[in-house]
Amino acid sequence: MDYKSIPKIELHAHLNGSLSNKNILELHQLKYQGSDQGINADAYKVQKELPDLTQCFAKFKYAHELTDVPERLGRACENVIRDFQEDNVVYLELRTTPRATEHMSRETYLATVCEAIRKCEKTCPGILVKLIPSIDRSKGVQVAEENVELTRKIREKYPDLIVGIDLSGNPENTDFRDFRKALQAARDCGLKLALHCAETAGSVSENLEMLEFGMDRMGHGTFMDESLETWKMLLEKRIPVECCVRSNLKCGSVSSAENHHIRKLLEAQHPVAICTDDSGVFDTSLSSEIELCAKTFKLSRDAIEEITLSTIDQSFASPSEKSRLKTLVHDFYRK
Ligand SMILES: [Zn+2]
Repeated sequence: MDYKSIPKIELHAHLNGSLSNKNILELHQLKYQGSDQGINADAYKVQKELPDLTQCFAKFKYAHELTDVPERLGRACENVIRDFQEDNVVYLELRTTPRATEHMSRETYLATVCEAIRKCEKTCPGILVKLIPSIDRSKGVQVAEENVELTRKIREKYPDLIVGIDLSGNPENTDFRDFRKALQAARDCGLKLALHCAETAGSVSENLEMLEFGMDRMGHGTFMDESLETWKMLLEKRIPVECCVRSNLKCGSVSSAENHHIRKLLEAQHPVAICTDDSGVFDTSLSSEIELCAKTFKLSRDAIEEITLSTIDQSFASPSEKSRLKTLVHDFYRK
């Protein structure tokens, strides 16, 4: 099966983590005007399995340094969208944390990304792109609340484009309960919630609180089955889980593809989305993730179609956009 040719839906992709080495090099050349001094694109990639998530988070620093002005941030965004389109991704929900730098405010950051996506509507007509601004837990509660307010404000100009809020970042030394107010404010203004949850073994105690609070989709859910209670609640609430197999393998949170929790979720006929997380950092693509899942779990062509259609349902696209995407997928599999 030619996995690249399949029309695909990507629901969990971080902008800075999705920059390919080629894009990292291009941004470096732009920043340092052609000089290759200090260039080290390999430092950005996770080459082999790592013992913990902290080192994975450290990898983003390099990309962040290159997207510190609007011009390069916009270029990064356009390049990432073009790469997804080249991989035959027909619908993409991109997420990114509004980040203030020496050269731009968080508001400028978010507006720049929105403008880049708008530009791609013309230059990359084969892919529909939505934006999910992220709350980085490690930046604290006040910044989280400000980012929700900022998202609400910018969304007035881009109502069809900004569809949700993401909670991500290193969960260590933070308490989920502190972020409930910001997340509830997002929910109250009509934004969907896609929350990283149960990403590390250390976060088990908050899993139940997060499930009780509720969310529209869960990122990773790696350690959901550590307790029977949380596992049961996840299945009962039918919260779709965004599964990023290679990301989990490289960060060492799962021991092998065979042991990835997507197996249990598929067996339970629970809605799952196969996603990349950070295709640049983890050196992967959505085609490659689907191929890995298909080969590891012996998924038939029909099963892949079914997962793709379910992923469309899990997306934050409008009903008419979902219907158009489903027709496109349906037509491909009936060719
Ligand atoms: Zn993620």
